Amino acid sequence: MSPRGILQEVEKYREIITVWEPRNRATMWHASDLCAHCGWCKIYGTPGPFCPRKLDRDKILLSPQGWGPARNIVSFTGGDLYCQTRFYIETFKLIKKEFPDIWIHIETNGYGLTKKNLEELYEAGLDSIWLDMKAFSEDRYYILCGTTNKWILELPAQIVDLGIILEIVLLYIPTIVEVDEFEKFGNLVSSVDRSIPTMILAFFPEYRLTSLRTPSVDEIVQAYRILKSYGLENVKIGNIGVFCRDEECIRKLIEVVGRENIAL
Ligand code: SF4
Repeated sequence: MSPRGILQEVEKYREIITVWEPRNRATMWHASDLCAHCGWCKIYGTPGPFCPRKLDRDKILLSPQGWGPARNIVSFTGGDLYCQTRFYIETFKLIKKEFPDIWIHIETNGYGLTKKNLEELYEAGLDSIWLDMKAFSEDRYYILCGTTNKWILELPAQIVDLGIILEIVLLYIPTIVEVDEFEKFGNLVSSVDRSIPTMILAFFPEYRLTSLRTPSVDEIVQAYRILKSYGLENVKIGNIGVFCRDEECIRKLIEVVGRENIAL
């Protein structure tokens, strides 16, 4: 798609927005405060078992990604080309010029976000970043991504200093990214800002990592507790369906960490 083509999509999307968020909530992390995406209110006319009960049913739409509110955020996900800033700069500028009330969010592993690229994207209108940090230790990062994570570890501080909204994603990958890595991430994030929204996700085996397993509930809870022990104030657990197979498991998890700390 060209930048103008994307602008046209944003224009169409803007027409169906049902929830207007302030800039500091331009994250995926905050979306789970509003809706558990079950669709009950639309299908059965009643809130689902885990509904946060914050939105009227007329705010909920069915999109290709499922049920939920349409928030005033456009997100660039999957296929991470942030080393090619020219395309994004042109696109972000167009969006911001036409629709300054739409927040621009990107999902990235951070590899393309050198300091210069980050500053250019920010100046073009980038509002928020979902930073999937993969692993802290360079050797483990190399196993996963085949390269260094040197400047990725510096990104949380740089992003916060620039005034871009940051959310951090940490994936629990048994045998590669376990509690020792979560300790290091806890230390890193707490040294930047303890209020950074942080999401723990559960790995599921695909492609070249099919020999690995998904994490257990206990492992995920342990990772959560480690991050909390570093004073992180906003930690949520996502991808629940990967390690919880039934409603009873979800209810037990809620008993342990609290409903507000689970992204459904
Ligand atoms: S508002 Fe969201 S969580 Fe609540 S019933 Fe509707 S779709 Fe489900």
